[in-house]
Amino acid sequence: MGELVLESFRPYAIIALGADREKKESVSHSDFLHLLQDFIIASRFYPSKAVSMVKSQLQSVEKIVQHVLNDERCMEMALEEAHIGAMEGEVPIGAVLIKGGDIIARDHNRCIQLNDPTAHAEILVIREGGRVLGNYRLPETTLYVTVEPCSMCVGAITQGRIGRLVYGAPEDKMGAVSSKFPLLNDPGLNHRVEVNGGILKRECSEIIQGFFRGRR
Ligand SMILES: [Zn+2]
Repeated sequence: MGELVLESFRPYAIIALGADREKKESVSHSDFLHLLQDFIIASRFYPSKAVSMVKSQLQSVEKIVQHVLNDERCMEMALEEAHIGAMEGEVPIGAVLIKGGDIIARDHNRCIQLNDPTAHAEILVIREGGRVLGNYRLPETTLYVTVEPCSMCVGAITQGRIGRLVYGAPEDKMGAVSSKFPLLNDPGLNHRVEVNGGILKRECSEIIQGFFRGRR
């Protein structure tokens, strides 16, 4: 029985460990919890050495699955902010700042209502993050934003020593991460930001494209 359960787990383990990036994101949390239960049962049929190997593999699989779920969950929050921005007549871009699993700040573009060309979602959450954390540096934070940041925001990200940047849709005209001006790739930059692009890319693109379509 143990052998059988282990066999049924294997494809999920391979997927979750990143052998197939596309499918990795399709492992739901409840699927994973069921697999965990199966594994606990299966482990009774294995000698202790095998059990400890299985356990350490499980921990790393769970970490990866959690990581993927967290990025998506946080991006969904940023998308909610983008939708609020759209309702307010702003360019619909949302951002969320996270530290150690806590939401430090969330906001959306407010340039029009504040008469402030610098009031991009990223700038607003970085400012609020500094206030909340009582620090002008924000290491170990992750900034989620629905659209690839512009050069001003990338400047603020490096000034603030943001640890990780996760964005949704690429921005061909002004994007300063991977599209138009890949500023973070400059070897002269003394702060390294870990970057993940394309999280919920379709949803993030749709809201911004819909906004500009509506204005034409
Ligand atoms: Zn910006």
